[in-house]
Amino acid sequence: MTETCKACHDPLIISLDPEDLDNGENQPQTVPDDLLLPCGCHFHWQCLLDESSTIVSTLSCPSCNTYLSSNAAGASSSSSSSAPAPADPVILTHYTNEGGVDPSLDIYPSLAEEAYLTAHPEARPARAFHTLVSEGEVQGMVELLADVDGNEEAPLSAAQLLAWRDPLNGGRSALHVALEARQEEAVWLLLWLGSRARREDFPEAVVQVAAANGLPRRLEGVEDGEDVRFVKDERGRTAGDVCLELGEPWTKLVEGGLFS
Ligand SMILES: [Zn+2]
Ligand SMILES: [Zn+2]
Repeated sequence: MTETCKACHDPLIISLDPEDLDNGENQPQTVPDDLLLPCGCHFHWQCLLDESSTIVSTLSCPSCNTYLSSNAAGASSSSSSSAPAPADPVILTHYTNEGGVDPSLDIYPSLAEEAYLTAHPEARPARAFHTLVSEGEVQGMVELLADVDGNEEAPLSAAQLLAWRDPLNGGRSALHVALEARQEEAVWLLLWLGSRARREDFPEAVVQVAAANGLPRRLEGVEDGEDVRFVKDERGRTAGDVCLELGEPWTKLVEGGLFS
C-alpha cells in the first residue's frame, strides 16, 4: 500500500506548477515530499509545519500521539564543570524531497521557528529584513522599509523594525546580524537610518549614496526612537561589542568614536 500524508491523506508528492517547467516532454510533473517521523507516520513538509504549535508543546506525533523527541547520542561535549544548558528536543526524521534524501534530519528547529512565527506574525517581516541584511541586499532593505512606511497596518513600524531583536537568533538586531556577516554596506545603511551617530563620522561615499537615494536620518531631531547602536542582544552585546569581537578593521569603527 502506498503511504499517504497523515494530515491531508494525499500521496507524498507535490505537483509542480507547469509554468515553472521548461517545455521538455520528459520532465516529471511531480517531486517527492515525504517526511517520515520516528513513529512511522508520513507527512508533507508543509502539512507537518502546519501542526508545529501542537508538536512543539507536546513533542508528539499529531496523528498517532507517539512521543517523538530523542537525545542525539554522544552529542554532549561540554565540560563537566559547567552546568549543562537545557538541551533543545531533537526530532530525527527521514526526509525525501526534490533535492534527495536526508536520512537524519532534525526538524525540531524548523518546527520551533514556525510555531514562534505563528504566535508572533509581526516577526515575519522583521525576520525577512534580517535575512536581507545578512545577505547584504541593501536595495532590498530599503524597499522593505519603504513598504512598511507605506503600510499603516504593518505590525512593526520601520523604526521598530530597525531596532527589533530576534528572539530566534539570540536577540540580535539587524546591526548585530550585519556586522557578524561582515556586510559593510548594510552596516552603514543601518547606522545611517537607525542611529544618531554624527554625520561627520560617516564615510563621504556613504553620505553621497544616502543623499542620492533620499534616505533619511530617521532619528535626527527625534526625541524617542531606539538608537540601533545601543540595542543589546541576549548576551548583553551592543554593536560596538561585536566590532571588538570581529577585530580589524571593524575595531576602527569603535576607536573612531562612532559607537559612543
Ligand atoms: Zn499533506
Ligand atoms: Zn505518528
